[in-house]
Amino acid sequence: MDLLKDIPENARKELEKLIRGNKNFMNGTPTAKNMCLSTLQELALYQKPYACVLSCSDSRVVPEIIFDCGIGELFVVRVAGITVGANVLESLEYAVKKLHVPLLILLGHDDCGVMAYANEHYPEITDDFQSILKCVYPVIDKNGQQNCNNQFARKHTLWVEEYILNHSKIIKSAVDEKKLYIAKCHFDHNNGEVCMIN
Ligand SMILES: [Zn+2]
Repeated sequence: MDLLKDIPENARKELEKLIRGNKNFMNGTPTAKNMCLSTLQELALYQKPYACVLSCSDSRVVPEIIFDCGIGELFVVRVAGITVGANVLESLEYAVKKLHVPLLILLGHDDCGVMAYANEHYPEITDDFQSILKCVYPVIDKNGQQNCNNQFARKHTLWVEEYILNHSKIIKSAVDEKKLYIAKCHFDHNNGEVCMIN
């Protein structure tokens, strides 16, 4: 866990928990217990998630399952290609400012349809998917056309962090004050592992 040593303690504790949960998922030994109606009823009037996850809408990337979590643990924002526009940004800000999560995970993944579409159509802004493309093309502008969509997704995740820090005062301040840590991660479809990237 040396990779984690410079992370503020609050966030590190939660990240270690999620990494352990991901190992449970990979090993086929999930332990999440709080998945029933009684958990929901206990949380009927409040929520206290310990992490926010920005993940792709892809049907194979389900944060609660791959991190072995139940109801009330994760504040999840899902959008195709983890593309960040105003509503998504404000959803993340809500998790930071109102729910005080110490950890934000940006979760890209293998075989992302958005990366494939962007790679195929760059630099054209097609009639469809305009706002999504505008959130992905800057990665190609900066790094050139990508041969491998999975590598492209990793670069995009790093770019998303940059974008968030440049466009959200709430999140930038929380990071500067060490109240929030942003973990850039990638989900591997072959073995189910969530790896940190930098
Ligand atoms: Zn995707």
